[in-house]
Amino acid sequence: MKGVKKWDTMNNKIKVLPSDVVGKIAAGEVVERPASVVKELVENSIDAGSGSITIDIENAGTGLIRVSDNGTGMSSEDVKVSCMPHSTSKIEKISDLEHLFTLGFRGEALSSITSVSQTDIITRAREEDVGTYVYIESGEVLKVRPKARPVGTTVEIRNLFYNVPARRKFLKKAPTELAQIVNITGRFIISRPDIEFKLLNSGRTLLHAGKGTGLVERIRLVMGKDIADNMFPVSGSGAGVSVEGYVTRPAYTRKDRKAQMFFVNRRFIHSRAVSDSMNSAFHSMLERGRFPGGVLFFEISPEKVDINIHPAKLLAKFEDEKFIRELTERTIKQGFERIKRSDNTITGDKALAKTEDRSLQKDPLGSEAEESQEEFKYDYVKKGTAGYMPRTGSMAPVFSEVKARKEENLFQFNDSYIVQMSEDAVRIIDQHAAHERVLYEFFSNASQNGRVERQNLLFPVRFDLSPSEQMLMERMLPHFGSMGFNIEDFGNRSYVVQSVPAFIKDSDIRQVILDVLHDMKKVNYRNIEPVEEIVKRTACRAAIKAGDPMTRQEMLSLLRQLYDCELPFTCPHGRPVVINITLAELEKRFHRK
Ligand code: ADP
Ligand code: MG
Repeated sequence: MKGVKKWDTMNNKIKVLPSDVVGKIAAGEVVERPASVVKELVENSIDAGSGSITIDIENAGTGLIRVSDNGTGMSSEDVKVSCMPHSTSKIEKISDLEHLFTLGFRGEALSSITSVSQTDIITRAREEDVGTYVYIESGEVLKVRPKARPVGTTVEIRNLFYNVPARRKFLKKAPTELAQIVNITGRFIISRPDIEFKLLNSGRTLLHAGKGTGLVERIRLVMGKDIADNMFPVSGSGAGVSVEGYVTRPAYTRKDRKAQMFFVNRRFIHSRAVSDSMNSAFHSMLERGRFPGGVLFFEISPEKVDINIHPAKLLAKFEDEKFIRELTERTIKQGFERIKRSDNTITGDKALAKTEDRSLQKDPLGSEAEESQEEFKYDYVKKGTAGYMPRTGSMAPVFSEVKARKEENLFQFNDSYIVQMSEDAVRIIDQHAAHERVLYEFFSNASQNGRVERQNLLFPVRFDLSPSEQMLMERMLPHFGSMGFNIEDFGNRSYVVQSVPAFIKDSDIRQVILDVLHDMKKVNYRNIEPVEEIVKRTACRAAIKAGDPMTRQEMLSLLRQLYDCELPFTCPHGRPVVINITLAELEKRFHRK
C-alpha cells in the first residue's frame, strides 16, 4: 500500500495523547467549519437568555467570527473555566438531561473552538461591576484582565484552524462557507422570534430580524416570499406532544426538501420521518418527487426525545416515532381542511353550486330541463354508479338554470381550457386536470369502499407485452384485479381484458392499460403504492385530453363534478386545476385601483 504508513506492531507502545492533541481531535467533532462555530456560539448566547444577538464575520468566518449578546454574561471566575474541556453550567448529573431546556449541555464547544483558534472573550455578569477580558490561544488562557462592558458576552474567534492546517485546507470556497453561515443563522431567526438577530459579513448586513418581527415575517425573510405567501397555519397535539407551524399549500412545492425546517423544543433537527409525513398529508395532491415547504415546531417533554445521539445534535430520536408521524400527518390534514373551507376560490364555487340547487328545487324548469339531459361522454359520475354519488341531485336543472340566466358565461379556449365568468371573477379551468381530479376522486372513493363497479366487456380486449412489461404485469395483476380490471394471462406474453372499472368502459382500454404499465416502468416499483398508482394513472389516461373539443353540456357537467370534489383545485399530480382572476385583481393590474 503505497503512501500509507504501515502500523509497526513491533514498536507498538500505547501512549496517552497530550491534552492539546486530544483537544484538536475532539474539536473536529464539534467544529467542522465556520458555520459550526457560529452555531455553537449563538446557542450559548440563546442559552444565556439574550434578547439580541449580533454575528459579525470576515472572510466567510475564516478570518473572524464575533458573536455578541446581551445575555447573563460570565463572572471573571466562570469565564476562565468555560473554555476547559467538559465544563458546563447547564447540567451536573446525567439525569439533568431529562429536563434539559438549554441548547448546549456537553460543555465541549468553547473548549473545542478555543483549541483551534485565537479567541478573545469579553464578558460581564450582572453581579459584577466590571467585565473580564480573556485571551486564549490553542486552548490556553494567556491573558486575563478587567475590561468595561455592558452585561453580556462577546466571543471573538480569529484564524479558525490556524493550528490544524489539514482542516483549514478542507474548508470550501468562501461563498459555500458563507452560505452555510447564512443557513444556520436563518434557522435561529425562525426558531426564536423573540430574539433579535443580526448577521454581518465584513460590515455589510446580510440578515436582520428585528425584535418585533413575528414568525411569518421571519419565514418570509429567511425562506422567501413564495413560501411565506403560500402557507397556512397548522397546530395539533396529543400524548404530551404538540406541533405547530406553517405548511405550504400543494400549489407550492419544490423538488427538494430544502424548504422544510423542523424544531424540537426550539432546537433545529433533521427528520426524515417528519418530512415524509408532510408528503403523506397531501397524498395524491403532490407529484412524485415534489415536496411541500414548511416550518414545524414540536414541543416534547425532554425525556421523550434523545438529542444526544449526534455530536452536532441535529438528529433527534423520538421515543415514539410512529406517533410523531401520525400527529404530523393529521395536523397538516386538519389545517388544510380548514383553509380549504375558508378559501375563496373554493367556497365561492361550492356556495354557487349549493344556491343553484336550492333555487332549483323551488322552481324546477320543466321540459326544457328534460331536453338538456343527454348522456354525456364525460359524465362518468352518474346515478347508479356504485360507490360514489354526487352530493347534489340531478344535474339537468342546473344546466338550464345557468342557460336561462347567462347563456354566454362559459367558453372553451384552445380546445383545452374552460373559461367561466361570474360576477366578480374570471375562472380558467384546465379541462384535462379537472377531469383527472374528478375521475381520481371517484375511482379512489370507490376503491376504498371496495365498491368499484365492474363492467364486463362484450368484446374482450387483447394485448401483447414485451418481456420487461410482462414482469411488471405479473406483479400488478392482483392490484389491477382489485380495481375492477379482470385481466387473464393467455401465455406467450399475451393478455386478455374481460372486465374493467365501469367508468372507463368507453375509453380505449388497451391504451389505458399499456399507458399505465408504461408510466410504471419509469418509477421504482419498490417506492410506490401499486393501487394508488393504478388509480392515479388510470384517471389521467382516461381523462379528456387537452385539444379535445367539448360541448357546452359536457363543460357544465364536468364543472359540476369538479366543484363537488374534495380537492377541486389541484390535480392528482399536484398541478393547479383552476386559475381564478378576481375583479379586484384585474382592476389592480389595469391600474384602476
Ligand atoms: P455548553 O453550552 O454545552 O454548556 P460550552 O462549551 O458551549 O458548553 O459553554 C461552556 C459554558 O460557558 C456554558 O455552560 C456557559 O456557562 C458558559 N457560556 C458560554 N457562552 C456563554 C455566553 N454567551 N453567555 C454566558 N455564558 C456563556
Ligand atoms: Mg454551548
